[in-house]
Amino acid sequence: TAARELVERHIATIPDFPEPGIVFRDLTPVFADGPAFHTLSESLTAPFAGEFDVLAGVEARGFLLAAAASALCGAGVLPVRKAGKLPREVLREEYALEYGTAALEVHVDALPAGSRVLIVDDVLATGGTVGAAARLVQRAGWHVAGISVAVELDDLGGRAALVEEFGDEFRVFSLLQY
Ligand code: 5GP
Repeated sequence: TAARELVERHIATIPDFPEPGIVFRDLTPVFADGPAFHTLSESLTAPFAGEFDVLAGVEARGFLLAAAASALCGAGVLPVRKAGKLPREVLREEYALEYGTAALEVHVDALPAGSRVLIVDDVLATGGTVGAAARLVQRAGWHVAGISVAVELDDLGGRAALVEEFGDEFRVFSLLQY
């Protein structure tokens, strides 16, 4: 579609970053282009129209996408933060990195019970990051409306990992696949 082509034109592909053998998809040129960023922000929420109340953005690039989409669709934003940043009582979920682990947090009382949350991020790789975000949403007593990303890296098995953990509880949407 036109939306996919406009966004894809602005994605930079960087071989061997951050280490040899990794092909990094850089979305900063998408953010820098007004029409491409607008189109991406619209495309992430369109498949879930009427199914969510809040957009959860994963720190840090997910913040940009959630905020931009929020301005277009009127939903609120839940910042899913790296550990240690939020000042009040939090829930924490750890997830595996290539070396070691990282953790994401949300305030336990950030949203009313039963809120329908659409999780957004720039890239789905192994699925560890958005999976941790989905566990946070569920543990807090909210409902995962879906997961929506700009780019899905097919070889890394993120979608299969999410289906393994969550079954068909929610849909996973990606605008572009590599
Ligand atoms: P995962 O947890 O699914 O393995 O990795 C996804 C997370 O790592 C996302 O938050 C994403 O920002 C980052 N990431 C992994 N690979 C890439 C990539 O090729 N490009 C970008 N921009 N981010 C990536």
